[in-house]
Amino acid sequence: MNGAASLLVVNFIIAASFGAVFVVVAAHSRSRRPALWIGAGFAVASLSAICELLVAYSFMPKLWALGAFSTVLIGMVMLCTGICELYGKRLPGWITCVFVGASIVLAYLIFDLPRGTPLQAFLYQTPFAIVLLTNAVTVLPFRKRSLIDGFLGGLLLITGLHFYAKAGLAVIAGAGASARDYVHTDYALISQSATAVLVVAVGLTLLATLILAIMSDQRDESDTDTLSGLPNRRKFDRTVQSMLARAPDGKHAIILCDLDHFKTINDTFGHHIGDLVIREFGRQLLHHLPKEAVAGRIGGEEFAVFVRNTETDVAVGLAQTMRSATMKLPGLPATLKVTASFGVSSLTSASDLTEAHRKADMALYQAKNAGRNRVKIARGKA
Ligand code: GH3
Ligand code: MG
Ligand code: MG
Repeated sequence: MNGAASLLVVNFIIAASFGAVFVVVAAHSRSRRPALWIGAGFAVASLSAICELLVAYSFMPKLWALGAFSTVLIGMVMLCTGICELYGKRLPGWITCVFVGASIVLAYLIFDLPRGTPLQAFLYQTPFAIVLLTNAVTVLPFRKRSLIDGFLGGLLLITGLHFYAKAGLAVIAGAGASARDYVHTDYALISQSATAVLVVAVGLTLLATLILAIMSDQRDESDTDTLSGLPNRRKFDRTVQSMLARAPDGKHAIILCDLDHFKTINDTFGHHIGDLVIREFGRQLLHHLPKEAVAGRIGGEEFAVFVRNTETDVAVGLAQTMRSATMKLPGLPATLKVTASFGVSSLTSASDLTEAHRKADMALYQAKNAGRNRVKIARGKA
């Protein structure tokens, strides 16, 4: 077996392995459908290497040559369908089918043209280039583009253009007198080497994209309190820090709240009703939350709200609204009256956050001591 034939075997193994890996990743990914499309794309495209070997070493070269063309094209279209779906776009099904059908007919029609002529080489490579370049155009203008999206877009662009480079090379170096001779040419060696590099680069980049999305999902999950649906203390603190970093010297407010006599609620109505109260209270906080604010469950029945760029009296009004809503939580036993106490403090600098938190805590303590179900304001700015 010569160099190009060995590379065909290597490319088959690489593409088939990516196919299997993407199917496994799909099981853990929120982008299950795109990952399956991508996996199936690699698996189908891997068959083209087998077809190329059959062209050289078996009968019916025309059939296997068309098989090689079709499997690469269909595999690429499946891969691109997956990438489009990953970026929230859909390829129009019927246009894609017509395009694939027309391209296979074109490959059939040009099969007997002299190989390595500009017409034959460019017509042969154009369908592949169209698929990849269309895909690059889908990924590159992606609005929330991160570094990896840009990298993937660039890679698809290079892969698309490399098909025209291959056509040029076929014209210059020759692609063999017949399809059977292809595997014995230097062109095949260069072409298959380029394929190996690009398949690995595209495969690894897509894998990284999917794995980063899985990691970000898992981080979101571990940052969210499952009962109330609110950020947990760690996430709340992190969000407040990043909100303050964007407006360090504005006037902000922190509201601490604590459900009143919650132990008695648990003891009287049962723990499951206590859980229900926490869930509904969390929903109410979210419902009344202004745009520039974040709420979190920072303890068992303790919650915090941070409001950016706000006056103290607006924050007090918000706490009063939340206090009223607490008395009307839906879905609870009629005899259960839920109330909550609130402490409000304001701050004018990011460095005052700890002090503002302490003052809001003291105000909350005063609200408890004054009879609960009320809002108290911390005296003086933090
Ligand atoms: P106060 O009005 O002074 O705040 O009294 P309290 O009873 O609300 O406060 P205390 O700190 O004595 O009790 C809080 C209770 O909240 C104790 C704990 O079992 C309960 N709790 C904490 N987390 C949860 C939870 O996730 N679900 C339920 N059902 N109860 C919880
Ligand atoms: Mg309490
Ligand atoms: Mg408490």
